[in-house]
Amino acid sequence: MAEVSAPIAELRQRLGASTVLVPDDGLERYERAARGASGVAAFVARPSTVDDVRAVVRWAFAEGIRLIAQGANTGLVGGSVPDATGRVGVLSLERLVGGLVVDPIDRTAIVPAGMTLSALEAAVAPHGLTLAIDIGADPSIGGMAATNAGGSRMVAYGDVRRRVLGVEVVLADADATVVDLLGPLRKDNTGLALHQLFVGSDGSLGVITRVAVELAVRPEATATAWVVPGSDLGVLELLAHAEHDGRAVLSAFELCSREAIDIALAVDADQADPFAGGDRPEVALLVELSGAGDVEGALVEMLASAPDGAIADARVVPPARSWGLRHAISPAMAVAGWVVGMDVSTPRSQLLAFRREARALVSERWPDATIADFGHAGDGGLHFNLVFPRERPPDAHEVEAIRGAVYRLAREHRGSFSAEHGIGPTNAEWWPDHVGAGARRLTAAIVELFDPAAILGHPALPYRSSRSHP
Ligand SMILES: Cc1cc2nc3c(=O)[nH]c(=O)nc-3n(C[C@H](O)[C@H](O)[C@H](O)COP(=O)(O)OP(=O)(O)OC[C@H]3O[C@@H](n4cnc5c(N)ncnc54)[C@H](O)[C@@H]3O)c2cc1C
Repeated sequence: MAEVSAPIAELRQRLGASTVLVPDDGLERYERAARGASGVAAFVARPSTVDDVRAVVRWAFAEGIRLIAQGANTGLVGGSVPDATGRVGVLSLERLVGGLVVDPIDRTAIVPAGMTLSALEAAVAPHGLTLAIDIGADPSIGGMAATNAGGSRMVAYGDVRRRVLGVEVVLADADATVVDLLGPLRKDNTGLALHQLFVGSDGSLGVITRVAVELAVRPEATATAWVVPGSDLGVLELLAHAEHDGRAVLSAFELCSREAIDIALAVDADQADPFAGGDRPEVALLVELSGAGDVEGALVEMLASAPDGAIADARVVPPARSWGLRHAISPAMAVAGWVVGMDVSTPRSQLLAFRREARALVSERWPDATIADFGHAGDGGLHFNLVFPRERPPDAHEVEAIRGAVYRLAREHRGSFSAEHGIGPTNAEWWPDHVGAGARRLTAAIVELFDPAAILGHPALPYRSSRSHP
């Protein structure tokens, strides 16, 4: 058996060999990120109770050992896996899944951090309820809160921040104090909304152990169409028209480039081409309406009454088929080549102009990259992803130049370099350039207050004053 340090051996002895895994147990799946670099874990602790989470954090505080909280490890910025030093431990919440409480009258749930989105949806569906956050992966609720996940239905239901009513956290102090900020009231103005500090904190402020969420009424029916816009302006006209139409709720407005659809269809034989029999368009929109009764009829009427010129073509497709293709894009890209994934946003009104300029810039400087962009256009979000050929991976300097150029352009359009995936080693170095001095100072003060011994979160996180005030 490979040597482990005395403190790790002692923790394993105390919590058991199935709770504290060491390199000989095989830690690869906790070390490999969904996208980007992988690392080396000193150990993986997998507590199944809040008391055991506390025991691990108390131990880490005493020993000065850094912990990275990990949920389902679907994050796309590398923040859930250790770095290459072999000195960081993973605190996996995957076994913290007991004690879900669903209250159908309050339309709320208190969810253990390790529960997956699909497990929560299965549990609340019999009550006619849903969390209403649609992600092409199956993350944990704790990870969704830590990254403030958005997803495809944000245009109607909001991101995690808007659905969270409270959290329970274990703090990184000597006693690993548990703070119950669960609420779960919809209306509560008794001071600072402290629970919201942990939403989008990327595991830097505390370990989230439970999350209280507001659930939505599950729509009776949904209907989807692939729409070819008449022009960039047509995209915005259709978005406004669909939101104002009133026949049903606009619950998704996704933009997919031809390249993204080409890749999904080439790699995933289960997907059907919505444009079979004709040319695939340069841009297609997946438009979804939700409601009761004849939602497909409402969709057809909404499309038929769109402003002149907004739509060049529209095909109503069963939701399972259109979402199957949309969700096939990300995994297919990883098979097709080397992905440089960028998750940017701008005000909705700016998105098409940003996209045009970013595509022109990349085509000119990196002509061998396929620009397979797609994303949540209804919220101004775009996964501006490049796929390099398998035989020509981009080197680190190129990746840095690409990110720098695209993020700068997003900022010029009043946008963000991290729309919904959070901050991790993949994008952390751009944080100081994109966040103002006042916000950087406040962030550093909060992080240093909550985690005085610097034992939480990925070492690359840029929030501490030593990193954020270059
Ligand atoms: C195919 C695919 C499609 C995706 N689509 C979307 C999308 O549409 N929208 C979107 O927003 N994201 C999307 N994602 C990204 C990912 O699913 C989200 O970021 C998700 O919220 C991560 O949850 P997780 O449980 O996997 O967290 P992890 O990946 O395990 O962790 C992510 C971050 O949260 C921290 N963390 C995790 N759990 C806790 C906890 N309990 N307490 C404190 N910190 C914690 C980690 O330290 C890390 O910084 C997609 C990913 C894939 C692979």
